Amino acid sequence: MPLMKVPMADLAAQHAGLRTQLDAAIAGVMDSGGFILGPTVESFEKALAESCGAKHAFGVGNGTDALLIALKALGVGPGDEVITPPFTFVATVETVALLGATPVFADIDPDTFNLDPEKVKEKITERTKVIVPVHLFGQLAEMEALQTLADAHGISLLADGAQAIGATRSGKPLGAFADLTTLSFYPTKNLGAAGDGGAILTNDDALAEKVRLFRFHGSGGGYLYKEIGVCSRLDALQAAILQVKLPKLAAWSAERRDNACFFRSELDGTPGITLPICRPENVHVYHQFTLRVHSGQRDALKAFLGERGVSSGVFYPEALHLAPAYAYLGAGRGDFPESERACAEVLSIPIIPELTRPQLDHVAASIREFFV
Ligand SMILES: *Cc1c(COP(=O)(O)O)cnc(C)c1O
Repeated sequence: MPLMKVPMADLAAQHAGLRTQLDAAIAGVMDSGGFILGPTVESFEKALAESCGAKHAFGVGNGTDALLIALKALGVGPGDEVITPPFTFVATVETVALLGATPVFADIDPDTFNLDPEKVKEKITERTKVIVPVHLFGQLAEMEALQTLADAHGISLLADGAQAIGATRSGKPLGAFADLTTLSFYPTKNLGAAGDGGAILTNDDALAEKVRLFRFHGSGGGYLYKEIGVCSRLDALQAAILQVKLPKLAAWSAERRDNACFFRSELDGTPGITLPICRPENVHVYHQFTLRVHSGQRDALKAFLGERGVSSGVFYPEALHLAPAYAYLGAGRGDFPESERACAEVLSIPIIPELTRPQLDHVAASIREFFV
C-alpha cells in the first residue's frame, strides 16, 4: 500500500519561505513596545481594507468576536430574529444566541453549500433583524438575491467571510457586499495569524464607528463609555505577522485554484463522488475543496485515505439545529434536509498551496483506487 503524508495544513512549510520577514516583523513589534492596536494594527487594517475592497477594516480578537461585534453594531438583541444556515461553523449561530436574539435557520443550496435565498424568504418575519450568509469553503453566497430580500424588508445583511478572504463575485471583491463582513485569521484560514485574530469590514461610516467603540469597551479607547462593549482587539504581533503574509494571499489563492483544477481534471467522472460546484460568477478561494461522497461511503473513504497518509476533514459532521445546545430552538431531524445530507456526504481533501505535484497525484490516485 503506497503511503505518502499529505496534510490538510502545513504552517511550518508556509512560514519557511517567509521566515526572515516574519522574524523581522516580530522583532520590530517587540522593540516598539506597542502591543495592543496602535500604528502596526492600523497599518494592517488599511492594507486589509484595500485588499478586500472595503472602506473600513477593524482588527479584533478572533472571527467569533468579529461576528459578535458586528451583530452588536447592527443592534441585535433580545426579541430579534437572525437568519443563518444550520450548515456552518458554530460561531455564526452561537453569537446570535449569546446576544439574546433567536437564531432562525434556513436551508442551504445543495450545489454551493451556501444559504438558499428562496429558503431565507420563507423565514422572514416582522422580527427578522439580520440575514447572515456564510461564504462557505471560500465561495461567495448569492449576495444579490439576499440583498434584494434585505432591502425589501428593511433587514441588515452580515456576511460571515471567515473562509472567503480574497474571493470575488461578478468581479466585485468580498468587501463590496453586505453591510458588514467578518473575517477570521485562525492559523489555518487562508490568511492565518500565529494565534487568534479576526476583522470586520464595512463601507458604512456609522457602522464603522460602532464597531470601533464595541471592540474596545464601548469607548473606542478613552474612559468615556458610550456603549456597553467588549474587549476584543487585534494585537500588534498578529497584525505584523498578517501584514507580511497579506501580499502573498493572491498567489496562495491562485495555487489553491490550480490544485482544485488538477483535482477536477483527475477526478471528473469518478463514480461515487460529486466535485464541488463553483458558480461561474464566483472566483472561489478554496478554503476547502469539498467532495460529496455518495452511498454512505464517506467515512470509509476517509479511513481509506488515512491509511495511505492522506488527511481529510468533515466540515461539518452535524447540522447545528441538531446540536444539543440549540435543541431549545425546537427543530428536529428532517427539518433542514439539504444541510443534513451535506453533513452525511461532505469530505474535504487537502488543497493547500504548499502541496507538491507528487502529493496531489497521490491524493487523486488514492480516491480513484477506492472506487475501482
Ligand atoms: C473559523 C470560522 C469562524 C470563527 O473564527 P475564529 O477566529 O476561530 O473565532 C466563524 N465562522 C466560520 C464560517 C469559520 O470558518
